[in-house]
Formats: sequence, C-alpha cells, structure tokens
Amino acid sequence: KAAGRNTVTAFSDDLRASAQRRLRVTTELSDAIEAGQMVVHYQPLLHLRTRTVTGVEALVRWEHPERGLLPPSEFVPVAEASGLVDELTRWVLATVARDAAAWDAMGLPLTAAVNISATHMGSGTLVSDVTRALTTSGLRPERLVLELTETSVAEDPERAAEQFAELRVSGIEVSIDDFGSGFSCLGQIVSMPAGILKIDKSLVQGIAGSGHKQASQSAAAVETVVSLARACGMRSVAEGVETPEQLATVAALGCTYAQGFVIARPMPAEDLPRWLGSRSRR
Ligand code: C2E
Ligand code: CA
Ligand code: CA
Ligand code: CA
Repeated sequence: KAAGRNTVTAFSDDLRASAQRRLRVTTELSDAIEAGQMVVHYQPLLHLRTRTVTGVEALVRWEHPERGLLPPSEFVPVAEASGLVDELTRWVLATVARDAAAWDAMGLPLTAAVNISATHMGSGTLVSDVTRALTTSGLRPERLVLELTETSVAEDPERAAEQFAELRVSGIEVSIDDFGSGFSCLGQIVSMPAGILKIDKSLVQGIAGSGHKQASQSAAAVETVVSLARACGMRSVAEGVETPEQLATVAALGCTYAQGFVIARPMPAEDLPRWLGSRSRR
C-alpha cells in the first residue's frame, strides 16, 4: 500500500514537472522569438523529370543558448498547445518571404513551403498573416506554398476548403502534408482545393531496404497515391527519400518531386545559393 501511494506521488510529481516544463518552454519561446533565437533551415525539393531544384521547404529550429539547436519536435507541440504557434508562424512566414525574395533577386526563383498548424487555420488570421508577409517582402504569391497535414485538414474539412480556395485565388499554392500517415477520409482529402500531395515518409521509406513483400506493397501504395494525385490534377512529392534506390523508385513511379537526405539535409538560408551552385556544376 505504501508503495502504491509512492507511485501515485511520483506520478503527480511527474505531471507537475511536465506542466512546469511546458510553462517554462512557453515563456522562454515567446522571448526567444523576440531575441532572435529562432532560425529557419531549408530543404531542397528536386523536380524529378528535369532533375532541377525548383523549391524548398522551410523548417524552423531554435538556437537555444543552453540546450543548443533544438528540432521542432521540442517546441512546436508546446507552441501549439499554448496558442503561441500563430506568433511563431508569423515570424517564420516573414523570414521565409524575405529569404525567398532575396533568392529571387539573385536570379534563383525558388518556391518556399511553410508548415501551418491546424490551430492557425481555425484562428481566422491565416490569410491576412500570409498576405502581410508577402506585402512586406514584395515576394510574388506564386513563390509561396503552405503545407497543412492530412490530419489537420480532416479536423475541419469545410473550413480548410474555404481557406485553401481563398489562398489559391491570390496565387498561393497549398499542399497536403504527411499524406498516407493518417486514416482520413480519402474522398474528403482529394476534393480539397490543394495543388500538391506530399506522400508521407513512412510509405516512401518502405519501398527499399525492407523485406521484399513490404517493399512491393509500399511501392504499390506510392504508385496509387501518385496516380490519385494525377487524376485530381495535383502534383506529388515523395518525402523522406534517403537512398539512391528509393530515389530511383519514386522517379520511376512518376512522383513529381522528391525531398530527403539523399538530395540534401535542411540547411541555413545562406548556404543554399552555394549548394545550388555546386549542384549545377556537377
Ligand atoms: P514535416 O513537415 O513532415 O517535415 C519533414 C521532416 O522530415 C523534417 O524534420 C525534415 O528534417 C525531415 N526529413 C527530411 N528528409 C528526411 C529524410 O530523408 N529522412 C528522415 N528520416 N527525415 C527527413 P524536422 O525539421 O525535425 O521537422 C519535423 C516536423 O516539425 C515537420 O514535419 C513539421 O510538421 C514540423 N515543423 C517544422 N517546421 C515547422 C514550422 O515552421 N511550423 C510548424 N507549425 N511546424 C513545423
Ligand atoms: Ca515575450
Ligand atoms: Ca511539411
Ligand atoms: Ca511531411
């Protein structure tokens, strides 16, 4: 019995500790945005037919003064739970729009994709936040892509459809992220006014290096998504491509773009022009 009581105490201590941690991260994060500790890294997307890099995805990181460079998994979920994520996204949008406008001016016309949280779509400020970033930077709307996960779209498909349509009228592309990772209604997802379908890395990574049976099943799944996208007039992206074998397979299956470590890891904005230059000289 005594041990049982100890377990309960330990459990509530754990809860308290995690609540305190969340609170600490929340206040710290708000200050970190102001203090300039957030950074955006960019991962190239390879257009498979022409073998050229035509765009990048923006991935946020936190240069924490004590804990080092933190991945989004360490703070984005906390930002989403505390309502701070809209502020973070506004900062990301402004940064990405400025970087992409600078690349444009250097003669590097790349599209830049920004990840948007489900809560932001519900808040009603998404369209105006995006418009403000474009106006401030002078970036053409055609250069911007917004990524929303399959799961966040499925939370409120009507609202998503409304906002996607509004964004696309202004020339901003919309992409459905992590497709194939959830169990959302297929009909609902494919009827969305989105132009790009990103095939989740769990499907892509199954196509090579695993057992023969799983490899052929994953390849069939990727092929199905590619033809689904095509039938809906959408382009497709294979995410998380790690090996030359996976790259060859997704190209053969007709994916429009590939993204993954085999092409490049996410990199700071200032490294991108040099990386693109070294690629074109190869
Ligand atoms: P995501 O949108 O699916 O982004 C792709 C993630 O896969 C990135 O992780 C990227 O570094 C990683 N990745 C890329 N290529 C490969 C590969 O070949 N193999 C493997 N194993 N992984 C690969 P990262 O940067 O840690 O981001 C994780 C997630 O955090 C993102 O998943 C996205 O959901 C979220 N996130 C990132 N930046 C933002 C942001 O600015 N706002 C919001 N709301 N969420 C963000
Ligand atoms: Ca603050
Ligand atoms: Ca994404
Ligand atoms: Ca993804």
